[in-house]
Amino acid sequence: MGQTQSKFSSEQLWMEKILHIFWVMIAMAFVGQLIGLITTIYYFPDYIMEFIIHKLLVPTSIQVVIMLITHYLIKVKKLYSTKLLMITGTAEAFVTALMHPNVPGLQLLFLLVMAVFLIFFDKKKLKFSLSINIIALTSLYLFPAIRSTASEYEYVAYLFVLWAGYRIYLMVLERGKEVLKHLQQAAENEKELIVKSAMMERLSKIDALTNLYNHKTFHEYLDFLYEQNISYDMPLQLALIDIDNFKSVNDQFGHSIGDIILKRVANAIAEQVTEEDIVARYGGEEFAILLTNKDIGEAYEMIETIRLHIAAQYHEELNGNITVSVGLKDLDGSMTKESFFVESDKLLYAAKYSGKNQVVWNERKGIMWEKS
Ligand code: GH3
Ligand code: MG
Ligand code: MG
Repeated sequence: MGQTQSKFSSEQLWMEKILHIFWVMIAMAFVGQLIGLITTIYYFPDYIMEFIIHKLLVPTSIQVVIMLITHYLIKVKKLYSTKLLMITGTAEAFVTALMHPNVPGLQLLFLLVMAVFLIFFDKKKLKFSLSINIIALTSLYLFPAIRSTASEYEYVAYLFVLWAGYRIYLMVLERGKEVLKHLQQAAENEKELIVKSAMMERLSKIDALTNLYNHKTFHEYLDFLYEQNISYDMPLQLALIDIDNFKSVNDQFGHSIGDIILKRVANAIAEQVTEEDIVARYGGEEFAILLTNKDIGEAYEMIETIRLHIAAQYHEELNGNITVSVGLKDLDGSMTKESFFVESDKLLYAAKYSGKNQVVWNERKGIMWEKS
């Protein structure tokens, strides 16, 4: 609907432009007639009145009347008909050629009028224009004024010129359509490329097995959020999560079951975090969460909820549950990015070595061990 609407209004716009060009052509013809008047005054002073009436006033009046009617129908009555415009153009050319039989070559105006309608890139419109221009050309040679100065050969010659012009315009039209097709294809290819590069970008950021961010992306976010913390004192915590005894899952049930469990744990983590948090698969069966906009207490609550949620999940494949251990660290302004990570890792090890299935975390003021 929108496309038809825009095509329609663009066609209207071009029709108004053509109307404008026709007015300009009439004005130019009038100027030409004025120049003719000057030469008449100079060389044929006896014919001045005849020139003014027959070469200046009559043709211009007829042309202006035709144009006024068309202008009224198009601009006022909104009768946006290209046929009307084509007939108008041909009629104007006809009047000019008829009223100036002594000016050679004015029949070429029919060719010019036909060229105007190339604008619409429409074979049918061009054919219609050819038909009415052939009719106009033929009618022209029915008038004695023209016949007295021209031979049948001239008529046939102009007919041929008109036909040849039509064939050339058709070629222009075909070539234009070909170029348009290429442009559309190029636009299509570009669109595909954008989609592909977006997919590639996503693939380079996401871990294929779990759909979480990958190791590389985790570090990019860590860099960025660390800087935010240093510059704006925005809170940031890092939770490192490691599945407990996962090797034995693989050993007992096979690698593919291990993968299913990994995916399920990843989903459980992703479901529990907020949009403000970044979850990544850091390594094999290790996950990392960057928590923002929370104090360490709130962060701990969330991580503990995740741990309990995972521990409560029953896995049919294993005929049992699995657990995770977590090290959670709040970023302190005095830490480097590296020490922030190392400290979180130490807390994870502490969780492992003090019994697993727990969150070990600290507060800003010194380490506070907490066993859940
Ligand atoms: P801990 O509680 O101390 O973490 O014991 P663990 O057995 O989980 O630790 P360990 O580091 O010894 O073993 C991790 C195992 O995770 C080793 C490897 O077989 C398994 N693993 C790592 N990546 C994948 C994976 O993509 N798919 C599967 N199925 N297993 C993986
Ligand atoms: Mg591990
Ligand atoms: Mg493990």
